[in-house]
Amino acid sequence: MSDALEDLKQAIVEAGQSLFERGLTGGSSGNISVRVGDEWLVTPTNSSLGRLSTSEVSHLDGEGQLLAGKPPSKELALHQAFLSRRPQDRAVVHLHSTYATAWACLSHPDDLDVLPPLTPYSIMRLGKVALLPYRRPGDARMAEDITRLAAGHRAVLLANHGPLVAGRDLATAMSAIEELEETARLALVLRGEQPRLLDSAQIQELETTFAERK
Ligand code: ZN
Repeated sequence: MSDALEDLKQAIVEAGQSLFERGLTGGSSGNISVRVGDEWLVTPTNSSLGRLSTSEVSHLDGEGQLLAGKPPSKELALHQAFLSRRPQDRAVVHLHSTYATAWACLSHPDDLDVLPPLTPYSIMRLGKVALLPYRRPGDARMAEDITRLAAGHRAVLLANHGPLVAGRDLATAMSAIEELEETARLALVLRGEQPRLLDSAQIQELETTFAERK
């Protein structure tokens, strides 16, 4: 095991603990993956993200063979579908966090842009967040849905399920999914109010200034 892989496993363990301690993932929900070349490190199935050790983190080769650790999360296929269209990204975080999942249980006028433009940070870190149709856990169409939208969206909500976010590295994916959770929380707090939204010129200015990737 190279030092780089060991460091990545440690980063995954620490990210899982951090999410768990802040109440962003409960039970055995939530999973984290990092692509390393054509290999994958991913949190194991039926495990709490709050109590992982580096030796349990699943290490798979490009064919999906387990090289070390426990069997991988059953939701790894969603992570792989996401990054299959995002060569610039290396990490995916998926949660069943309360506010983002609540937002994923509501209907929205535009499924390709479901979060209101409340703060500059969600636009900078998330771009347009898409809502994918509800699928039963294990339904192969969920990965197809993600593959279809992945190139143009780095953050999606799975309807009645939860958020899935990609990033160029684990720290970026973590801060983005935290932004998504907080923005969904703001949107719910302000639901029924008439918040002042950023207008299209302000959104355009952010996209230009921060040269955002899609
Ligand atoms: Zn899930």
